[in-house]
Amino acid sequence: MAILQQLGDITVQRIIEHEVPVYLPTDMFDEATPEALEPYRSWLEPKALCPTSGCLVMPVVSYLVKTKHHCILIDTCCGCDKSYADPPSWHQRRNKLWLTNLETAGTHPNEIDFVFCTHLHSDHCGWNTIFVDGRWIPTFPNAKYIFARDEYQAMEDEGHQIFIDNLLPIMEAKQAILVDLDYALDDQVWLEPTIGHSIGHVAIHLKSGGARAVMCGDLIHSPVQLAEPDWSCNSDYDLAMSTKTRKDFLNTHCDTDTLILTSHFPSPSVGHIISNGDIYDFKYGS
Ligand SMILES: [Zn+2]
Repeated sequence: MAILQQLGDITVQRIIEHEVPVYLPTDMFDEATPEALEPYRSWLEPKALCPTSGCLVMPVVSYLVKTKHHCILIDTCCGCDKSYADPPSWHQRRNKLWLTNLETAGTHPNEIDFVFCTHLHSDHCGWNTIFVDGRWIPTFPNAKYIFARDEYQAMEDEGHQIFIDNLLPIMEAKQAILVDLDYALDDQVWLEPTIGHSIGHVAIHLKSGGARAVMCGDLIHSPVQLAEPDWSCNSDYDLAMSTKTRKDFLNTHCDTDTLILTSHFPSPSVGHIISNGDIYDFKYGS
């Protein structure tokens, strides 16, 4: 379901693809042993940690942003028919619920002006393309896709399947724009370099009037990292950099009015970072 947030004259709607238990905590964070998690279990379960499977519950979401001038999509989830190595549930998905949810939010793919990706991992750029008549084509035919140059370059250098299926078709359609990590679309939408999870990871800031929001991508994956900000995801490109980026981000936005739009926190996925004694906490909602 799309959840509407009003941010000055900008609207923000979360578009969800799915929300299921996906990884064992130690698959995500080496430190997250059952003993280490025990003090947090009471508030992680059941929404962020499934008591039955013991796995972290991590939705995969996009944000649909409408400013006075532009219709913008931030991140595009896993997509359909994509070949992803991990986790198995993201491989060759057939479920098009995400597209339905976008249209239920009142937006047809033709209406998207810009697609931003916080980074170019499988669950953030999947719906960039769809498979039609034997080839990948842009899902959003009228959009410019804004990719951080460093992130795009790294995926191209790797020759990653994600590059071939989700990125190259956008470039070939002349719909990709490669930008610096501090690119600004205008005075309402701009990027902030938040390197660590990936080489060109960015947070995406929104501002209207006095209201602010930021889509943080995968600089933080799970609410457990509010209590343990030193826990970096095992797959992070640079674990130490990721920790520094996350701590700086938490510190900057703690106890402020900035609405945090997360990628993988349980529904409703948005809220505010607040202090709670020596640790951070998250107040869900707008
Ligand atoms: Zn992710």
